[in-house]
Amino acid sequence: MSTDMYGITDQQWLTTQRAVLTDEFAAQTARLTELTADTGDPADVDTHAGLLAVTRANIEQLTGALRRIAEGSYGRCARCDGAIPPERLEILPHARFCVPCQSKHEG
Ligand SMILES: [Zn+2]
Repeated sequence: MSTDMYGITDQQWLTTQRAVLTDEFAAQTARLTELTADTGDPADVDTHAGLLAVTRANIEQLTGALRRIAEGSYGRCARCDGAIPPERLEILPHARFCVPCQSKHEG
């Protein structure tokens, strides 16, 4: 019997990650609809545009993560092709890079 409950190939773990991503996707989509419908205060137009951009970027990241789950490449670093630790993916479900690559990317 496997004790590797959080193995990257664990279907139950993947299902959980997908559920988290799907929920977040729904929340962000609702937010985008709200932001699109709300013409807002003209004085806040920059803030509004910023929020729209952030929400769109979030949706894009979530869509990418869900696609990677469907393709079976979820949990692989997009840069070095190494495994991203499940602990990292539980904190940041849409993570595309392992920690070392993310640091390089930001630095
Ligand atoms: Zn990497």
